[in-house]
Amino acid sequence: MQNSLDRLNHNETEKTTPHDNYSDTQEWQELFNQFTTNIGEKALSELEEKIADDPVGYCCRELNKPVHELAELEQKFSSVFIPEIPIDTEKYIQNLNENVLNQVMPVSSPTFVGHMTSALPRHLPALGKILTALNQNLVKLETSHVLTVLERQVLGMMHKLVYGCDESFYKQWLHSGDYALAAFCSGGTLANLTAMWACRNQLMPADENFAGLKREGLARGLLHYGYNGVAILVSELGHYSLKKTVDVLGFGQDALISVDADKNGQICIDSLYSHLKNLRQRNIKLMAIVGIAGTTETGSIDPLDVLADIAEREQCHFHVDAAWGGASLLSERYRYLFKGIERADTVTIDAHKQMYVPMGTGMVLFRQPTLTDSIAQHANYIVRKGSKDLGRHTLEGSRSAMSLMLHSNLHLLGRQGFAQLIDSSIEKAQQFADIIRQQEDFELVSEPQLCLLTYRYIPPMVLTALRNAPESVRKKLHDTLNILNQNIQTIQWAAGKFFISRTSLRPVQWDRQPTTVLRVVLANPLTTLEILECMLEDQRELAQQNPLWQTLQNLIN
Ligand SMILES: *Cc1c(COP(=O)(O)O)cnc(C)c1O
Repeated sequence: MQNSLDRLNHNETEKTTPHDNYSDTQEWQELFNQFTTNIGEKALSELEEKIADDPVGYCCRELNKPVHELAELEQKFSSVFIPEIPIDTEKYIQNLNENVLNQVMPVSSPTFVGHMTSALPRHLPALGKILTALNQNLVKLETSHVLTVLERQVLGMMHKLVYGCDESFYKQWLHSGDYALAAFCSGGTLANLTAMWACRNQLMPADENFAGLKREGLARGLLHYGYNGVAILVSELGHYSLKKTVDVLGFGQDALISVDADKNGQICIDSLYSHLKNLRQRNIKLMAIVGIAGTTETGSIDPLDVLADIAEREQCHFHVDAAWGGASLLSERYRYLFKGIERADTVTIDAHKQMYVPMGTGMVLFRQPTLTDSIAQHANYIVRKGSKDLGRHTLEGSRSAMSLMLHSNLHLLGRQGFAQLIDSSIEKAQQFADIIRQQEDFELVSEPQLCLLTYRYIPPMVLTALRNAPESVRKKLHDTLNILNQNIQTIQWAAGKFFISRTSLRPVQWDRQPTTVLRVVLANPLTTLEILECMLEDQRELAQQNPLWQTLQNLIN
């Protein structure tokens, strides 16, 4: 006897569809074919070979060229009409190739050193293709099953990397459905938000006359506990995602208190103490101290152990934003820089920064998994009470299986492989810093603590004048230098051969005046010192060709 499933399988060959009146038309048949046959396979597989199978080659061969004018591109992409009928696939792919893929930024190129992501190991595009094909949804077990279990394992590995708890701890918590050791999310921004969300909800717990902040909200919580407000302390080099965090959480942006950083880019402890005193006087509840383990702008690491001591004394939450730097924990040689991170209540790490995984792999780790109780949510059709759905403890809902990308890197590179990558990046940064120090017309502005450093172009005569000239001239020189360095960066990027980024710092050695610096991140293993020397030479030429160079000379004379 034939069961119903067999009947279904059998009928498939006859290509019946529920809409018999549609199915007769050629349009329907073509639409249907999009789900069953690989239309345009040839054109796509050529592109795949060219790009996905050799992204670095593609970047170097086809993308290192001047960028197209933005206005021109905007013109090209200005129609807002959804195409009424399907476009021929071959034609679409050809258009994609000529007008889009040809003009993306060569972020995997070894000459692109201004951003925090890098070239990726070659197995990842293929894995990405498989993940897209399988389209698992990690929000609930029913649509991801084994990948839910795998994700918990990966999160456990990251938890162990940071906190190093013992076997019995992981036995108890790794696959617990009620709590989570960590939560995956799209990036550091959401990881920071999730950490502070959990922290906020447990800050004002329920008692006899109050049902807890999670139910009654912040305004009633503040009234009930008699606080004038809530504050989070972080150094002035804190990532701007923290501003979004205090905004979204309803504290207002003034709740994020910016503490001065010292000449090494580390939070000033004296300044921190004076802010603490001020908060007490104003009866503002200190919710969290945030330490940064690898600032986005200078790569500096706060003294985490000292911050942990202070947070303990103040009885507040201690969060470490290691979105970029956290991967360096894999290096035995540099792990000591992070001492104290294991005392953090929560830690943010982005695998898409220094763990060589594509974007969309942020993580927030919880020292005590029970903290996730404060953000747990339930619904009847999903993330049910008692289920092991990952969505119970994530801010996002539907989410892809990016954790498999990290899982594969952890296995295919191994801890030692990661350590070698990280050590060599840091050493390259130190060597590049030495090269910059040897140039008479470049100034190293921040030393590399990890693989990130900043510097600027400054001709020697201007340097002397900046120290000795009258105040009014100094100010003009300083401003002109800022614009010159901005120009160098923009023009170099537009030429398409190199990419360095820029930011504005307030260096102690320049009396904390806003100073434009060029910023380089050296995680790409394909970047060589020769490339960096060429980039420097290119910057020197751009500077000397710039009209502002003459302006500087005129100001001195
Ligand atoms: C990059 C970064 C973030 C934000 O991460 P996204 O993945 O871009 O959301 C937060 N904090 C620090 C220190 C970062 O470097």
